[in-house]
Amino acid sequence: LFHFQNLEPERGLVQKNRYILGVDLGGTKILSAVVDYEGTIISQHEEKTPASEGFGPMVQSLFDSMAGALDSAGIPPDSVDAAGVAAAGASDPERGILFTSPNLPGWKDVPLGEMIAERLGKKAFIINDGGAAAIGEYYFGNGRGFRNFIYVTISTGVGGGIIIDGVNYTGTAGVAGEIGHMTIDDDGPLCNCGNRGCWEMFASGTALAREARKRILEGMASSILRHSGNDVGRVSARSVVAAAREGDALALELIGWSAHYLGVGFANLINIFNPELIITGGGLSNAGDILLQPAYEIAGRRAFKRAFSTVSFRRAGLGKNSGVVGAAAFAREQLKKKM
Ligand SMILES: [Zn+2]
Repeated sequence: LFHFQNLEPERGLVQKNRYILGVDLGGTKILSAVVDYEGTIISQHEEKTPASEGFGPMVQSLFDSMAGALDSAGIPPDSVDAAGVAAAGASDPERGILFTSPNLPGWKDVPLGEMIAERLGKKAFIINDGGAAAIGEYYFGNGRGFRNFIYVTISTGVGGGIIIDGVNYTGTAGVAGEIGHMTIDDDGPLCNCGNRGCWEMFASGTALAREARKRILEGMASSILRHSGNDVGRVSARSVVAAAREGDALALELIGWSAHYLGVGFANLINIFNPELIITGGGLSNAGDILLQPAYEIAGRRAFKRAFSTVSFRRAGLGKNSGVVGAAAFAREQLKKKM
């Protein structure tokens, strides 16, 4: 048990040659990575999620993904101490049960932790994907040195993770951090969660593309269409951002619309949590200043002055590896706790 005692990266006491298997269990792909105790990825392997084929094939893909990463790592199998799994949805990190996941149709109350622990012969821990990303940023990304922050992923949906006093806050039933489903307009568009006007119905890439399609179908001229292969069905957040960078009037207006709602949500988070930092990640955050600067300004106009004057904004440091690295960081943290 000696090697679990030196796990404090912030103090530079990092055990060498010990590893964690991080798994990002997504709706389209399952990415596994062998990650060392400093957050460096040693190897990784990706499998498709056969979401339409049912539970068995999905579990097989999960195991194939794990085996692929382990096989290519070139390390003794016993140097892997545990697995951490990040998945969207509600889970019980204590018992390792994934209750439901919006990305994994048919999964209900799955004892995922136990299944992976049996397969691997090591402990396995599961965590919400937003929480994993937040923990990854806390230990290895742009949240290092901060004790209170909110991680916001702006992607097809809007998700997040809450770090309070250095701990990922998961709530009473493991549901905390669903910031994308705070109500912004109670009469707004219908969300997948069943509610109306959730933040992600305004601030996500999906929402931006939806508004762009609507405006184009209404007859607005725009280069967005050219960036979408002249097919209104293929209009995406990416094509809106590309057109905005060229100065397209409609694209700029739509980005302004997204930024407005992004800023409204930031203001809510700032007033509720008074964080020292908000970290943004996810595909649409790569639009960068064109989207984020106006959002910060709107947050500044709406949030309490005292709270806004003490918050800073950063982009995520881990990029698309935030799931696997965050899951690994969570597993490492849990091992340390259970000592
Ligand atoms: Zn919702």
